[in-house]
Amino acid sequence: QVEFRRILKKYGGLTVMRDLSLQVDDGDFLVLLGPSGCGKTTLLNMLAGLESVTAGSIHVGGRDITDLDPKDRGLAMVFQSYALYPTLTVRGNLEFGLAARRLPKDEMKKRVDWAAKLLQIEPLMNRKPGQLSGGQRQRVAIGRALVKQVELFLFDEPLSNLDAQLRTEMRIEIKRLHDELRSTMVYVTHDQIEAMTMATKIAVMNGGVIQQFGTPDEVYENPANLFVAKFIGAPA
Ligand code: ATP
Repeated sequence: QVEFRRILKKYGGLTVMRDLSLQVDDGDFLVLLGPSGCGKTTLLNMLAGLESVTAGSIHVGGRDITDLDPKDRGLAMVFQSYALYPTLTVRGNLEFGLAARRLPKDEMKKRVDWAAKLLQIEPLMNRKPGQLSGGQRQRVAIGRALVKQVELFLFDEPLSNLDAQLRTEMRIEIKRLHDELRSTMVYVTHDQIEAMTMATKIAVMNGGVIQQFGTPDEVYENPANLFVAKFIGAPA
């Protein structure tokens, strides 16, 4: 369970979020959807511990994680820029996801092989990122989060650098991962199609405010206001 409680966020003197609350259950695929500047990334980064919370609290599995170090939050994040290490092989990049954990070598190998199999990148393990396509790189970036075997995965616009066909492919891929792993996922995008096809719950945001929270069907069939209707492309 992930819960944001009465979040206030200021950047210096600028208030970008006020009294925001949101809650999803274990196993949910929550999409934070909204236009540029609406606060999606800020919300995700506060959950990840990459951005401070001005007031309010964040709870994961009943535990208050608001002030925890990012590495102690039991989550893994996939970024828009893949941020792979160009000098390491794919295997090296996946192992790097576990570098801080001091796992025994055979456990490390087991996890890396497991993630590689799930993502179907086994034939690529000895290549360097420069020898991969964009879609393959994105798979490696996801793999680096998977090896952590956590209950909560965060994605920040992971597909926005891919062409349309690859985006569709990876959308299906991430959805399949969610179905197989049953972990909780929080996914930031401005793409309505990604939201409608992947989410179990959507939070539509604008101006730092959640305009509507519900299942894709609820949001589409019953938009809370004109902004949501227009943004989702649903009949108002
Ligand atoms: P995008 O899709 O463009 O990434 P977003 O919905 O993720 O947008 P945020 O990046 O969370 O939006 O930004 C929310 C608001 O906070 C915006 O008004 C933005 O200008 C402001 N903001 C974000 N980061 C900072 C910062 N480091 N300092 C000051 N203001 C910031």
